[in-house]
Amino acid sequence: MADFAELGLRPEVLRAVADLGFEEPSPVQARAIPLLMAGRDLIAQAMTGTGKTAAFGIPLVERLDPDNDAIQGVVLAPTRELAVQVAEQIHQLGRHRGLRVVPIYGGQPYERQFRALRAGVQIVVATPGRLMDHMRRGTADLSGVRIMVLDEADEMLNMGFLEDIEFVLSHLPEERQTALFSATMPDPIRDLAARYLTEPETVTLGSPRGTTVEAIAQRYYEVPGRHKFEALVRVLDVEQPSLGIIFCGTKRAVDDVTEGLRARGYRAEAIHGDMSQMMRERAIGALRGGRAELLVATDVAARGLDIEQVTHVINFDLPQDPEYYVHRIGRTGRAGRSGEALTFVTPWEMREFRFIERSTGARIRRAAIPTAAEVAERERELLAERVMSVLRNGATARYRALVEELSEDHDPVDIAAAAIAMAEQARGSDGADRSAAAQASAELEAWLRRPPPPPAPPRLSGQRYSGPRRGPAPWDRENRPERRGPLPPRGGPNGPPRRFTSRRRQD
Ligand code: AMP
Repeated sequence: MADFAELGLRPEVLRAVADLGFEEPSPVQARAIPLLMAGRDLIAQAMTGTGKTAAFGIPLVERLDPDNDAIQGVVLAPTRELAVQVAEQIHQLGRHRGLRVVPIYGGQPYERQFRALRAGVQIVVATPGRLMDHMRRGTADLSGVRIMVLDEADEMLNMGFLEDIEFVLSHLPEERQTALFSATMPDPIRDLAARYLTEPETVTLGSPRGTTVEAIAQRYYEVPGRHKFEALVRVLDVEQPSLGIIFCGTKRAVDDVTEGLRARGYRAEAIHGDMSQMMRERAIGALRGGRAELLVATDVAARGLDIEQVTHVINFDLPQDPEYYVHRIGRTGRAGRSGEALTFVTPWEMREFRFIERSTGARIRRAAIPTAAEVAERERELLAERVMSVLRNGATARYRALVEELSEDHDPVDIAAAAIAMAEQARGSDGADRSAAAQASAELEAWLRRPPPPPAPPRLSGQRYSGPRRGPAPWDRENRPERRGPLPPRGGPNGPPRRFTSRRRQD
């Protein structure tokens, strides 16, 4: 995928993009930005979480003139929250160009909005009704508008804003660019586009089953295969899922991961195709009854499972294709709850992972594997929370007399510390496991602290340098594939394991 510089952005905008921490354009950005920069009208099917705001925000801040005080760009959004959020992101993007943005929404005092509009702004992000009011009152002059964006058009229609939107659109200059963003494309949206857009280009981010669910925060961790289990444990220690499903590629991996997790004190259950129906039911019963917090599963075994309140879906192994990714992560974020989808990707699998990301149109954020210090800090917090909860529950009365007695000879702080140490020992796993775990943790820590790669080499003509963070760099001996050039056939002597086919056979 192109990087932002290849999109031909101004240095001020590139700087703003870098300030926001965006490393490369999301799929909708890669497709929409060039079209919008070329002045085309656009219909984009993309939902929250795909990076759609910057997909129209970047062209807005690129194309508008900071030296002209007229309103040149209008974004209509369904809710006050979204208007504020979009205005904030456009403000960030346009910062170094000196563009001014204001959110205008119902419920806020008019006086403040009059002032903001009078002060001269180039971009207004508004809810339709309130903008219409300003137009009628003559307090928002839209005669200089060059770019109009309808954000979450389907939501605006659902909320009954159609007439207001049409009022705004019909009062804008004919010579303008219009972009419509919507998660779904029902007929009324298509009608609206047909009436108010001129020869629009269409960008659809097709995912196998519509689009991935917006309530799900998606992250990925890049880690070599040999450190993956340890990385999983750290992520679990920090995330503390109250109910998580961990997907593995093979039955063998399901068994290994389940066993490993149990050895670390997790209440994990396994399901895969080799297990009898009764064993599977027992595993799921443990999960439903709160006796287990993690279910480790293959895709096939998890098919049709309906477990409520899954807080985390963890792809310990990459799914075999984008459709499976969508299926898997769709198990969390249900019924209006938020959910987390975490994916472990080895450097080897980066290309495959990017393909999944591109095909689902999802924005999957890179996340750092927690360091040992972060895990320790989180454990400290959790321990403190547990102590506080016992205190709050008043379950301490029967031990007070004992503590008072011990206090005659010892400092109460020492006594409390000893009591916590005792409780922690009782929770811990046995010594042998612990030393193996410590070894694995030290190895992961050493990998996390490996020296940074040397500065990027110059770009070679005809060959795209894709940056040091996206997979093994050529100089990274440890993670370097054994052969350069095109990937060897899967399963060949030097190639990666034949994952796809072997996995399919597993269940
Ligand atoms: P949106 O779909 O616009 O609501 O964006 C979803 C989230 O992705 C926001 O928190 C953005 O800040 C973030 N985001 C948007 N574009 C990128 C990008 N190219 N790289 C990383 N994060 C991004």
